[in-house]
Amino acid sequence: MRYAETGYNLEIDLSRGNIERVETDPKLTELHLGGLGTNSKILWDRVPPDIEPFSPDNLLIFSTGLLCGTPAPGANRTIVTTYSPQTLLMGYSMMGGFWAPELKYAGYDKVIFRGKSPNLVYVWINNDKVEIRDASHLRGKGAVETAELIRQELKEPKAQVAAIGLAGENRVYTASIEQGRSSASRQGVGAVMGDKGIKAIAVRGTKDINLARPAEFIKLCNEVLQYIKAREQKPVPGVMPILAGLGSPAEMKLVDEEWHTQNFMWGNARERKRDFWNKEIEEKWKQTQESVRTRLISCYNCPMKCGALISVPGISTYMMKCFSKLTYTMASFSDLDFGFRIAQRATEYGVDGFSTPQVMAFAVELKEAGILTDQDFAGCPSDNEGRFYWLLDRIVRREGIGDILANGTYWAAQQIGKGAEAYAHNNIKKHEQLPLKLGMLNPVYFLMYSTGEKINITQIEGQFPQAPFPTMEEREDFIKDWIQVPDEKFKKYLLDWEMRGERSNPYYPTVDMSVDIVDWQEMMHYIDDALGVCAGLSAFPLKPPYHIHNYPAFISSATGIDMDEAGLKQVYKRNRTLLRAVNVRRGLRRADEKPPEDHWKKRFPELEEKLLDAYYKFKGWDKQGIPTKEALQELDLAYVAEDLEQRGIIKNEQS
Ligand code: SF4
Repeated sequence: MRYAETGYNLEIDLSRGNIERVETDPKLTELHLGGLGTNSKILWDRVPPDIEPFSPDNLLIFSTGLLCGTPAPGANRTIVTTYSPQTLLMGYSMMGGFWAPELKYAGYDKVIFRGKSPNLVYVWINNDKVEIRDASHLRGKGAVETAELIRQELKEPKAQVAAIGLAGENRVYTASIEQGRSSASRQGVGAVMGDKGIKAIAVRGTKDINLARPAEFIKLCNEVLQYIKAREQKPVPGVMPILAGLGSPAEMKLVDEEWHTQNFMWGNARERKRDFWNKEIEEKWKQTQESVRTRLISCYNCPMKCGALISVPGISTYMMKCFSKLTYTMASFSDLDFGFRIAQRATEYGVDGFSTPQVMAFAVELKEAGILTDQDFAGCPSDNEGRFYWLLDRIVRREGIGDILANGTYWAAQQIGKGAEAYAHNNIKKHEQLPLKLGMLNPVYFLMYSTGEKINITQIEGQFPQAPFPTMEEREDFIKDWIQVPDEKFKKYLLDWEMRGERSNPYYPTVDMSVDIVDWQEMMHYIDDALGVCAGLSAFPLKPPYHIHNYPAFISSATGIDMDEAGLKQVYKRNRTLLRAVNVRRGLRRADEKPPEDHWKKRFPELEEKLLDAYYKFKGWDKQGIPTKEALQELDLAYVAEDLEQRGIIKNEQS
């Protein structure tokens, strides 16, 4: 019997209309757990590195994590993996909500799509019955609207539906996959879904998931729930509100946006407004937020309520979460009311709320600089809000200048030329980043931004405070109940970290300490992404309920796999290295691993090189960021070493 997982994947060939239920190899669960780990393995094994993202041979994988569907709180992530049209590397975007547990209850760990459907279709997974159904009547429909229409058509109000909007249908690189209470938005996964001709995947499952040692597992779950309760009573003092608790409910609950509006950049990551926030704005934004936020909502089996249902009069209800509350507002130099209104249209179109506003602000800047012309903007209203709506409509339809902008700022700048490249100034690996530009280089963030394969910094950072506490008293207080540290040395790193002087950024944390910290942060994210646990309860916040010391017991009691901390760390390293190898085989090298030039005002080129060298060495990679043969062999990835050797990547390039 298989525990925690179902032991089956659905393989759907869209070109041939073929559907298979395929038993998976339990050995792969031991080696990679599930989710991102096994997705990387599948992509490595089955998609050659020269396959284009929009090729029928590219795979689109919807995976549950290993613990999804079990009673583990917050284990609800769907990990969507494919080759990204934007970065051209392996893209993996995740969504919470209810979809992944439902798929497990239907009897599958993953749905793997290959080929392309000649017509627009949707897939209906109803336990053992799986159908590919015509979706021509849903063409052009909004993502949220589509989900509702499908539920009505199937007469199955409990079906969980992941759908694309117009943006995905038109292969817009910032297209998302929307799922009611969450979305997989980064790296163009919605564009690949549209390219394959899939409008939506509806799932209904009513089966059980087996646990190897249920009593032990439930006890652990209860401990986590109790810890969440206790932790909520004890916000971390001295950090910004969004980092004081767990998850990210603060954004939808709180109205105090002084920190975001004055520290993040407005426009296309262009301009800071240091004196923006005042009493009048606070009052106005409070009224706006409270008048449209109908209720706070959670993902499956989570008490945190990070999302909110937003009902703006005259337009249909949608779900909003986290920083998307401000992305449209700040990109357009407008106000919160506009942000809530345009986000509804953007959600129906199915676009990434981080990248898309930046693409639109980028277009406005190019127009103001004379690089784009009146002709490019023919018919566009002259006010900011009007311009943003107009641009959004053009981008998702790939009409006129929208056809170029639909490829994101990096590719659009290449196509436009005439100096437009300088305006695409906030990308890493060709992908838009949060518009956060800072003063002094932070060595830990330098490494995370540069080397992270997940693209979005909020999905890489966590665990270690973002800035030092001013007084020793605060630091000592913080470390008192810091049970999550994998090693006591991290407490010392924090105690010695000062705001100014010798032991401050950029030279403290030292190079080696920075590498240790990044490795810890990465470890937790990679484990979460294999287990399907939301980072909001694990890798992202300070002092979370899940950590390296209790995860092995969760895995062992759920699956029956004998897992201890050392074993789990080895799985993390294996998954991290395999994903790196997938991208190395696609051409990723050291030159790609850099933050935007102007991300920090003060840069330290020599230190930055040392940081990269030390990080690569720690990982067992060479100076180009290519895993060495020895490191690969040690991680049971000898087949990867062999492949890289055959391609001349290890032999010729390793130094
Ligand atoms: S912490 Fe928030 S985002 Fe994460 S599962 Fe819970 S409700 Fe969803």
